[in-house]
Amino acid sequence: MGGKNIVFMGPPGAGKGTQAKILTEKLNVPQLSTGDILRASKAAGKLAPELIKAMDSGGLVPDEVVIGLIDDRMQQPDAVNGALFDGFPRTVVQAEALNAMLSKRGKRIDVAIAIEVDPSLLIERTVLRRTDKRTGQIYHLKYNPPPPDAELVHRADDTEVAVKKRLDAYARDTSAVIPFYEKEGVLKRVDGVGDVGEVTKRIFAALGV
Ligand code: ADP
Ligand code: ADP
Repeated sequence: MGGKNIVFMGPPGAGKGTQAKILTEKLNVPQLSTGDILRASKAAGKLAPELIKAMDSGGLVPDEVVIGLIDDRMQQPDAVNGALFDGFPRTVVQAEALNAMLSKRGKRIDVAIAIEVDPSLLIERTVLRRTDKRTGQIYHLKYNPPPPDAELVHRADDTEVAVKKRLDAYARDTSAVIPFYEKEGVLKRVDGVGDVGEVTKRIFAALGV
């Protein structure tokens, strides 16, 4: 299956990034992660201090910032045929902007996957998350231990205090994106608890591939 526009939704730690990396290898579309784009921009010293503060403390960055990032990224040739949006949209304003950007190109969101994980599991999933800075591979100290030679980074916002704030932001702003896509008739809910491979199978079933 190529050329689809797919949205991945779910609270922090639901497994969006892990599954997106697996799926982009199997589907012919790139992963567009606003979180990854923002972290790369921060690492390159190009992110404004107030945006770094918003991110590191677990708040959202303003809609117009992430909408601009996605608009730019969608112009790149690899995203012309479709994309897997990971962590965007996170507000209804962003969802409406994404629909407008796609419809300009004669496209639409084909499937919106909501990965569901009980909130009680999300603190452990995020606080023990580590990423290899060379490969971008996502690990978990308990559920998916990194190899000894990995160069691990611990995200500044993967602390218990910041994760609690991100869960609040999710409940307040982002959960409304689920009924938005439900009304559009493209929502699929997937149980995100279980082995990574098991969750991947459920996502493929939801995508009909
Ligand atoms: P998100 O992008 O939704 O924030 P990640 O994909 O980064 O989530 O996953 C969060 C953490 O949970 C990572 O440490 C990852 O290794 C781990 N993880 C991902 N999927 C599962 C799963 N099905 N079971 C247990 N741990 C998982
Ligand atoms: P997670 O994988 O835990 O869901 P992300 O990597 O997607 O987190 O995002 C990290 C942080 O980047 C968010 O807490 C927020 O500050 C900022 N961010 C990423 N995407 C968006 C977005 N679509 N709207 C607003 N802020 C965003």
